[in-house]
Amino acid sequence: MSIKRRKTRKVKVGSIYIGGNAPISIQSMAKADTRDVNAIVSEIKRLQGAGCEIVRVAVKDKEAAHALKDIKKRINIPLVADIHFDPRLAMLAIENHADKIRINPGNTKKNDLLDIANLAKTKKIPIRIGLNSGSTPKGVTMIALAQETIKLFQRCSFRDIIISLKSSNILETVDAYRRMAVLCDYPFHLGLTATGLPESGIVKSSICIGTLLLSGIGDTIRVSLTGDSVKEVSVVKTILSSLDIRRFGHEVISCPTCGRCQVDLEGIVKELVERLEQKGRAKGNIRPLRIAVMGCEVNGPGEARDSDIGIAAGKHSGVLFKKGKIVRKIEEKDFVDTLVKEIDTMGHS
Ligand code: SF4
Repeated sequence: MSIKRRKTRKVKVGSIYIGGNAPISIQSMAKADTRDVNAIVSEIKRLQGAGCEIVRVAVKDKEAAHALKDIKKRINIPLVADIHFDPRLAMLAIENHADKIRINPGNTKKNDLLDIANLAKTKKIPIRIGLNSGSTPKGVTMIALAQETIKLFQRCSFRDIIISLKSSNILETVDAYRRMAVLCDYPFHLGLTATGLPESGIVKSSICIGTLLLSGIGDTIRVSLTGDSVKEVSVVKTILSSLDIRRFGHEVISCPTCGRCQVDLEGIVKELVERLEQKGRAKGNIRPLRIAVMGCEVNGPGEARDSDIGIAAGKHSGVLFKKGKIVRKIEEKDFVDTLVKEIDTMGHS
């Protein structure tokens, strides 16, 4: 089964594309103060290292807008300026080389939106029309406001538009994106807002974003979490790889264990994942493999056989499978070393 993606326009953001046939991209928003260039650059570098492909920063005053050009010189991913209330900051951000502007029509006047679109058009900078239910005027829907803003932008032939319609409610967010999907062909930035700490935020975001992705909706993703921004990136990657939309490394599957398990499966899997991640970071591109580490003979042989490589454990030992065939019996203490070595010899890491 494969997901049929909604057809969208392709919009260029710095060096990458959003929409069309471009891969669904990974975004995050830096949390440091944009005016503190060293702090924000160091956070963006950590995000880049984790796999973030587009980063947004808050531009809340002129100093932050001017800082954009210094930040840009020191990073390698597109930089998005997040603007609310003050249209002059959007203009300044464009002049200071932001690769994209996020504006919120819920707190920006129509005439100002038009001025921003005109400048963005001249400078070839895309704009995200970023609606949030929390800042949409009473009695107006996010969709109505998005449509009104699109019309306004189209009046000056500006079409480098990306749309987001976020709320803190999953049903409301899914419904808004689904309705909007049939009303335009602009690419969508997906996200659920105000999700809380990672424990709840990851579950809520995965349900919301996953539901939309399964319907073919979504061109770029930001998971919002109260906490480290790097975590947001790893969650987006996991959502995309769980749906087989993109792969970012090996997939390790393991059973939950039960009273039948006679090895320290959790310890083994944790060590294996850590070692594979270290190798991945050191070697760069990896052709992803599916690796099964299973606790006993109930589901173990089946999953191990269906994977590129796997172990079905027994009593302090296990049977190693490669490409569907039994290779040999190994001791529990050798599980991780054997898997890592075999994966190396398979030439994939
Ligand atoms: S594979 Fe075996 S050990 Fe793992 S959960 Fe299933 S029955 Fe339990």
